Amino acid sequence: MKYLSTRGQAPKQSFLQILLGGLAPDGGLYLPERYPQFIAAELEFMRGMDYRQLAFTLLSRFADDIEPDDLKALIDKTYTTEAYSHGRPDSDFSQITPLRHLEDGLYLLELSNGPTLAFKDMAMQLLGNLFEYALDQAGRDINILGATSGDTGSAAEYAMRGKHNVRVFMLSPEHGMTRFQQAQMYSLQDANIFNIAIRGVFDECQDIVKAVSNDLEFKAKYRIGAVNSINWARVAAQVIYYFKAWFAVTTSEGQPVDFAVPSGNFGNVCAGHIARMMGLPIRKLIVATNENDVLDEFFRTGVYRPRSSAETLHTSSPSMDISKASNFERFIFDLVGCDGGRVAELWRAVDRGESFDLNASGLFAKVVEFGFVSGSSSHADRVSTIRMAWEKYATMIDTHTADGLKVGLEHREAGVPLVCLETALPAKFEDSLVEALGRKPERPAGLENIEALPQRVEMMDADAVAVMAFVAAHAND
Ligand SMILES: *Cc1c(COP(=O)(O)O)cnc(C)c1O
Repeated sequence: MKYLSTRGQAPKQSFLQILLGGLAPDGGLYLPERYPQFIAAELEFMRGMDYRQLAFTLLSRFADDIEPDDLKALIDKTYTTEAYSHGRPDSDFSQITPLRHLEDGLYLLELSNGPTLAFKDMAMQLLGNLFEYALDQAGRDINILGATSGDTGSAAEYAMRGKHNVRVFMLSPEHGMTRFQQAQMYSLQDANIFNIAIRGVFDECQDIVKAVSNDLEFKAKYRIGAVNSINWARVAAQVIYYFKAWFAVTTSEGQPVDFAVPSGNFGNVCAGHIARMMGLPIRKLIVATNENDVLDEFFRTGVYRPRSSAETLHTSSPSMDISKASNFERFIFDLVGCDGGRVAELWRAVDRGESFDLNASGLFAKVVEFGFVSGSSSHADRVSTIRMAWEKYATMIDTHTADGLKVGLEHREAGVPLVCLETALPAKFEDSLVEALGRKPERPAGLENIEALPQRVEMMDADAVAVMAFVAAHAND
């Protein structure tokens, strides 16, 4: 399996060759040159598989340059019941992504039972093991530099903690994360994890990461890497749970299922799109946004109009507060018939801060063939959806999952099962739950007093030079 760039101007590479990098050299995102196909008979053969077997069946098609025995060992070490057992006490954690029945035809897919209580653990835990493996093989090391407003940074730290040849330098804004999120990250005592709290806002953290990445000499000398949401291995790992969920809600071949996906950077729902392209009978992919509705606007109007960070609202589903959906380019590549030149042209406009409109070219009319529909939700919608789920289904959900459930229900059709993806546990967003329900969500065992644990964090000004000095002092060379 070779990977090509969505902008069509980069040499083809193998899975391991693209694993540790970010963008392709032409600025595009990597995609497999064709999606592996699974026909109905193969799907029926896979129906009885557990999560690890399913993961191996799917990932061995994407990562065919990893020895099968090695890949199997990495998967078996990642997807353990123990690692994904932080959810509701009555869930069947042996399923890794248990399916919760809300009412007939309506399900919650529990993706947030991993160590940081958000769906990013589904892919990131695998990425940690893949990185360690690839670095060992190549005799290399890496210093991961990132900026986080919450979920990505903690998922990356919990995936990379204790891994050899990997150090993580994670910038976070001094204010803006919940106390629980801060405690999750800052309480890590692993020697290879460095938390840096910046006296500033998230955008300033991100600007520092950009400044460092643009310093090519520094980047090369200190082997700076990233684990952002455009990483292909993360998207590939997310494909697995769409298959797992489809088997869990269907009994025979060809049955259609709808998925509702709380979306920000379009990574999660892009994996659903890929599962569908691989032959999984997904009918609709329901893209749910919050008030930051750049994706909803596209799927309703055909106009993609990324916003500036000044136009990005701070909402009560903060992990979806995005102004540009980085993985969206992968879907557009498929939409334009894999024409890299066309994608490059569209993204030249995006990079100039402009929008593009796919109506005149007739491309927008093709979007329906890919099953996408969308909707958005507001703070008031989240509060009422959290209440509804609690009263009607005795299930506490977080604000992001509420965005998905709200929009999912708007697109529900009788006779087609609807699976809503749970992207975080309510314990992560206590204050919003208190607002909606007047009570705190239960915390998973062992995390009751996480805020009281000793914290390991460096406070710094929003100054790229100072951050570079810190990285240089703590990176091995
Ligand atoms: C990251 C995240 C999302 C958005 O996922 P994308 O892949 O960026 O679309 C939604 N909900 C939660 C809780 C998240 O952490």
